[in-house]
Amino acid sequence: MKPPVQHNSLRFSPAPWAVLAVFVLGLPACLVTPPSALVHAEEGIVRGSTELEARALGLQLDRLKPRVECCLPGTRSVDGLEVWIQDKPGLYSFPHQSNGEAEGLWAESHDRILLARDADDLERTLAHELVHAALDESWRTLPGTLEEGLADQISTQLVPEGATRLRAGRLASAALATGGLGLTLEVENLEHQTTWMARITLSGSRPSAEPQRDVFRLAAGLSSTRVTPASKRGYYGLAFLLVNRIVERQGVEHLHNLCVSAAEQGLSQVPRPWLLAAADLADSAEAWRQAALESMGAAELRELMRMHPDFVHDAVLDHLRSRGHEDLDNLRIRLTLRESATTLELHADEPFTNRLRAALTSTAE
Ligand SMILES: [Zn+2]
Repeated sequence: MKPPVQHNSLRFSPAPWAVLAVFVLGLPACLVTPPSALVHAEEGIVRGSTELEARALGLQLDRLKPRVECCLPGTRSVDGLEVWIQDKPGLYSFPHQSNGEAEGLWAESHDRILLARDADDLERTLAHELVHAALDESWRTLPGTLEEGLADQISTQLVPEGATRLRAGRLASAALATGGLGLTLEVENLEHQTTWMARITLSGSRPSAEPQRDVFRLAAGLSSTRVTPASKRGYYGLAFLLVNRIVERQGVEHLHNLCVSAAEQGLSQVPRPWLLAAADLADSAEAWRQAALESMGAAELRELMRMHPDFVHDAVLDHLRSRGHEDLDNLRIRLTLRESATTLELHADEPFTNRLRAALTSTAE
């Protein structure tokens, strides 16, 4: 028996990856036991480990589901929808197919959304899965991983509090998948009129030779598609970049119209050139990398620093220690995303300077 295909919502926070390739044939698939507490919300049944947990999620479901159906063209309302919160989202108690780092799943075969209790942002993940659940047949021609990009895009619109974090993760992943991103760190000493500079390059493994083409070919969000977690993050990033550009330039209706037009012309998928034109993107990895960097503003760069709190802090600390500096008052510390105009004035960032000051004091003792 083959488990049905599920849409995974991917965790993007940095984590050490293990290649999850356990696949044992011939063992029975046992459906997991439902969480014990059950709440009937307006828009579906919610199950969690306590009634309080289920009730809180029920409120989010009632708020989000009508809005997903209203802000997207080409939707259907799922009757008998259930949302479960689990420690590890899955339909089966035996992991026939590893869901890897999935924070949420849409299991169409069971009309069920499965959410990880420790999801980075439970509400945003619910919004993402509700998009998968709501898309009707008219979206069938949306190619490759783009449905993930659409689900992410709508989730940032409906849960704006989680938008910057998602954008930072997805855009950084897109840049890493297409060649990496460079930062320049400057420490200016106003008293001595000297400036120290360091170049930091963040690079990641490229999922393929032409990732900006493969994102249209591979459905990285389906549990049946076998790609490494790092490649998957890259494709999610590229899909978000493309859909975000189309929606910001043309609106989500335009993306839907392309899907409908492709079907009317007897095409199985929207042709790549149509989507590139709608996003105003060229067909080269370098063009996509530049586009990802251009979309990263100060808020996203700050969030990227929060997600990787050590690399800038450690570089500045090493420099200051080597110069015997303990006083931050006469310093101007700037972090610039090269190839874009985005700069953070870190000397005015209190959490950053507080942490630095504490580290400098502890070495001095
Ligand atoms: Zn998804």
